[in-house]
Amino acid sequence: MISEDPLRTVLYIDLSKRSFWTEDRRDLFEQYIGGTGVAINLLQKECRQNANPLGPDNPIIFAVGPLTGVFPLASKTVALFKSPLTGNLGESHAGGRSATAIRMAGYGAIVIKGASETPVYLVIDSDKVHFKDASALWGLKSSFTVGRIIREQEDGAGLRTIMRIGGAGEKMVSYACVITETYRHFGRLGLGAVFGSKKLKAISVSGRRRIKVENPKTYRELYKEVFNRTVKSPAMKKYHDLGTAVNISPLNELKALPTENLKQNSFDQAGGISGESIAEKYLGRRVACSHCPVSCIHLATYREPYASEPYFYKTTMVGYDYELIYSFGTMLKISSPEGLLKILDEVEKYGLDVMSTGVALAWATEAQERNLIPSEGDVNGAKLRLQWGDYDTYIKAIEYLTDQPNDFYKALARGVSYASSKYGGSEFALSFGGNEMPGYHTGPAAHIGHLIGSRHSHLDGAGYSIDQQNLKEPGKSTPENIAKALIDEEKWRQILSSLTICFFARGIYDIDTVLKTLSVLGYKLTKDDLTRIGSEILREKYQFKIREGFNPRNITIPKRILETPSPHGVISEDTIRKGVESATDLLEKL
Ligand code: SF4
Repeated sequence: MISEDPLRTVLYIDLSKRSFWTEDRRDLFEQYIGGTGVAINLLQKECRQNANPLGPDNPIIFAVGPLTGVFPLASKTVALFKSPLTGNLGESHAGGRSATAIRMAGYGAIVIKGASETPVYLVIDSDKVHFKDASALWGLKSSFTVGRIIREQEDGAGLRTIMRIGGAGEKMVSYACVITETYRHFGRLGLGAVFGSKKLKAISVSGRRRIKVENPKTYRELYKEVFNRTVKSPAMKKYHDLGTAVNISPLNELKALPTENLKQNSFDQAGGISGESIAEKYLGRRVACSHCPVSCIHLATYREPYASEPYFYKTTMVGYDYELIYSFGTMLKISSPEGLLKILDEVEKYGLDVMSTGVALAWATEAQERNLIPSEGDVNGAKLRLQWGDYDTYIKAIEYLTDQPNDFYKALARGVSYASSKYGGSEFALSFGGNEMPGYHTGPAAHIGHLIGSRHSHLDGAGYSIDQQNLKEPGKSTPENIAKALIDEEKWRQILSSLTICFFARGIYDIDTVLKTLSVLGYKLTKDDLTRIGSEILREKYQFKIREGFNPRNITIPKRILETPSPHGVISEDTIRKGVESATDLLEKL
């Protein structure tokens, strides 16, 4: 690495003792690069075995990498923790300004330990850490308001990140998220609940450091090459123009778009909420994470008329993308784009993971249809009957998920796996290893990937992409081939996420480009080294999961995925079981 690179510095913060210190961990950054690689090593050391995910022994690790702030699209911060949703590995990546701010403050990683007795927010300003009283912020349900207050209160405008929770994090909803820069999130697996359990309302990080590369001429040439490839890439243009929402129409046509809690594989009214349709009528702005020329973040302008004043509107910018349209649009059959934007704004406000929330409400709607929760869905004697497409009632349910006014919403706030274990309906609970389903019913590879991936996410091994390739070559769609493709992809993604490169740029950062960027930054690594490091990181993550009780051989396969046909036809349980078995063998041999 670059000599004197502050990336090697790990900042430790103990919330119980209100103390902080740094350690030089050059060894760790040289061995595991940064991001996920460094974070999993820190997590294994700092997280006691069987620690309560909502107790002081569960640390939060943030890590960035050597490319952060130096090359385009290395814009993510990796957060690792023990997940309150799955009980094992919690991993979430967010962009915004988080990664650049952490590195420019002088750190490669931040470890937050312990728990505060009273509400607190942290201000990390280069080498200073301030523990600020957050009593006045505690109880504010809106993550927007929290962000606004801290923005006005603290220095560092333009350079800082403000990570914060809304009401859902405070109430420790198992899938509460952490919001950064309003439109970016540590979305999945419940980091917001871990913040809440530590009485940590927010973290602001800012810094003004510069990174001095040792060979500026070679660096500039390589930077230009990566930048030009990015801005000329058709894939990046697609992300810029319509964003991931562009995938709604093709996946709907392919009959791979989960609808109505996956009772269906397509939505006959998807046209009104497709990426094209929302962009034409509502697109207001595109924004980008720090140091990214793509601007894939699409914000719709939602105008809500005031009841008493004609031609007077409350105007809100609402982020949307493929997963958001899937989880609240098609899963709940909300065909009104305005209804969809209104509900997405509410979810953002409370700070809930959109995917888990949409899937939880889809399960709850079907469970109510089947009378599994006859009166437990009522609050204060009032009936709250969830119905497909009824976004006003879903908005009320989101408030209840946060406030948890009765046993039913308490259970639903712990995820569909828990709620269905209490009320029944596990056969249509779309939970994979405890995490709610992403928006892909493309075939067996997607579901094997969701079952076995480190995060139980579509981002682990990109099974949705393997399924679509296999449609062209059906002979390749054997469980063994699928398992190998998933694990190979997941190994390589450990390198990308250790470099904290946005996965949308995976086509730009091929192995040769990664080696060139690392070489400019003083890393002498070969292709074999990267292959070995990717395997090692994946192995460490898998071992952490096993250590915390994950057993792939006992995993529950949601029956619903075997009932609704995918583009590969009806998926057999045998195919899924064999795929999981093969993937497990590969993981055990890493
Ligand atoms: S492509 Fe999108 S998500 Fe990725 S770094 Fe750029 S703006 Fe952020």
